[in-house]
Amino acid sequence: MHEMSIALHIKDIVIDSIPSDQTGVKVETINLKIGKLTAVVPKSLKFCFDIISRDTPFNGAILNIEEPPLILFCNDCNKESTIIKPPFTCKNCKSSNIEFLSGRELLVVSIEVSQP
Ligand SMILES: [Zn+2]
Repeated sequence: MHEMSIALHIKDIVIDSIPSDQTGVKVETINLKIGKLTAVVPKSLKFCFDIISRDTPFNGAILNIEEPPLILFCNDCNKESTIIKPPFTCKNCKSSNIEFLSGRELLVVSIEVSQP
C-alpha cells in the first residue's frame, strides 16, 4: 500500500528529529504538507500511521495534513494558475498543455512535542 510506505517514512523522519538526549518526550502533533499530485489519501495515511505508531513516542500523535493548492504553468499563454481541484487546465485559456510547478510535495513541516 502506497500510504503504508509513506507512513513508515514519516516515522523514520520523526524518530530522527527527536534528539537522543531527550528521553520521555511525547510527540503531540506532526504537521505535514502533501501535494495533490502525490495521490496520497489523508485518511488512509492516518490509518496506517496509527498502526505503526503503536509502542513509539508518537503513539496517539495527531497527523495534521495540509494540502497546498496546485500551481501549474501554461505552455500556451505562459501564465500560472492555482488549481484547487481537477480538471488541471489553464485558468486563462483552458489549455491542457501545462506543466506542474507544485503538487508533488511530501514534507514533514514540523513536529510538536511535549516534555514529561
Ligand atoms: Zn493558458
